[in-house]
Amino acid sequence: MSKITLDVQKEYNCDVLVCGGGVSGFASAVSSARNGAKTILIENGGFLGGTATKGLVGPFMTCYDSKGKERIIKGLYFELEDRLVQAGGGISPEQCPGGNSYSGYRTKGHYGVMPFDTETAKIVFEQMCLEAGVQLLYHTTIIGCEKQGDKITCVYAADRNDIIKINGKMFIDTTGSASLANKAGAETMRGNDDGMLQTASLFFKITGVEKGTLDGYMSKNPEMRERFFMDVIEQGQKDGTFPCGTRKLRIYENPDGTWTVNMAQIDGQLNELDGEEITKGEISQRIQMGKIIEFLKSNIPGLSHIRLVTSASDIGLRESRRLVGKHILTLSDIENCTKFPDRIAVCANSIDIHQKNNVNYITHTGENYYIPLSCLISKNVSNLLTAGKSLSADKYAFGAVRVMPPCIAMGEAAGITAALASQSGISADEVPYEKVQEILIKNGGIID
Ligand SMILES: Cc1cc2nc3c(=O)[nH]c(=O)nc-3n(C[C@H](O)[C@H](O)[C@H](O)COP(=O)(O)OP(=O)(O)OC[C@H]3O[C@@H](n4cnc5c(N)ncnc54)[C@H](O)[C@@H]3O)c2cc1C
Repeated sequence: MSKITLDVQKEYNCDVLVCGGGVSGFASAVSSARNGAKTILIENGGFLGGTATKGLVGPFMTCYDSKGKERIIKGLYFELEDRLVQAGGGISPEQCPGGNSYSGYRTKGHYGVMPFDTETAKIVFEQMCLEAGVQLLYHTTIIGCEKQGDKITCVYAADRNDIIKINGKMFIDTTGSASLANKAGAETMRGNDDGMLQTASLFFKITGVEKGTLDGYMSKNPEMRERFFMDVIEQGQKDGTFPCGTRKLRIYENPDGTWTVNMAQIDGQLNELDGEEITKGEISQRIQMGKIIEFLKSNIPGLSHIRLVTSASDIGLRESRRLVGKHILTLSDIENCTKFPDRIAVCANSIDIHQKNNVNYITHTGENYYIPLSCLISKNVSNLLTAGKSLSADKYAFGAVRVMPPCIAMGEAAGITAALASQSGISADEVPYEKVQEILIKNGGIID
């Protein structure tokens, strides 16, 4: 490997630097700025939302308890829901009982999902950041950092033309692949014990669905709400007309009348950190997408006239590198509903692990479980936090909390913690968790 020297052309200063503008970065930045910290958010794309926008992934998975009775994720997520509905680009979870087109005709775990329009979400994420006073820097990619002792002092990033330096007191890595953590020498982990990751999928949106026909078919064939045309798909796999590992039809109606399809899938292992592999993966997924559309047209009631609207600009990576935190959330924590003293969110999503050829839903006790703040704080870099996809969790616990409402709840807590630490000149770990909980509750969050 050769070393290159680059000149820094611009320098910025902030209290809290949020790296990565997916839903977790959005929530971290809003929350940090609202709690008084001068906050900069850098994002390598040209808008916010990450997997939710670039990846076209939706709907927001449920924010309800496992019985679908009570909302357990509120706070900033609740506010976001309201903003999306007000902007005409979201349907409130109350109006999305499981089993209908907005929940992909699913019942299990799909009560109270929230469909949203990608374009509305981009604007709402952005406006909420700007209203909170966050400085947004798009087209800006982390390339390195400097440290003093166990603290990061600055991040180097490349924008469209220059190398920039951003000095900060606290850093939140919401890159979804623990990129900053990796560059800072923080302990990280990746995949399961064999290094295997969950499958990657290219989402796409279609139009031309005859909703009445599909709705009618689903209501006359209630068994399909759990079978999702598996027999037809498996037959297609046998005769080669369905060239894809997934065994189920996953299709969700959006508020704007388009439908999101989650069926393309890379069945082998893809090294998500390697540009060349990702490129090949995205090309192969777009070819697969064309074949899926043809298959759906010929085999599924109500889909014979569908047309492609758009494919995701980034392939959806369910899993990547994660931070090793002060605590690693485990399957046992989920199953036993460990009530951590420093809990910052309550969740109930089932453990959902997508692997080659199938999806493993491992049900837990059915009770709510908790995410502790210590899963968001680096074990060995004292001013580094994370939220969302890069949290510190084993593969099972990760499979449960990786969906967007918990990611937003984690971001909200990480933002508060970073703001408090930057104001008191202390490490993330020294911030009294009771203070973080007090602010979360004041903002409508739920921790019990
Ligand atoms: C295929 C798939 C299906 C899913 N289905 C659902 C679903 O139906 N409902 C649900 O609620 N959840 C679903 N999820 C889970 C959920 O979408 C993600 O876990 C969640 O959106 C992750 O958000 P995040 O902000 O933590 O990370 P990301 O969304 O990965 O955001 C990371 C951001 O960081 C930026 N970034 C990365 N590296 C750098 C860098 N070096 N410099 C600057 N910026 C950088 C990226 O551009 C991106 O914007 C799904 C995920 C996938 C992949």
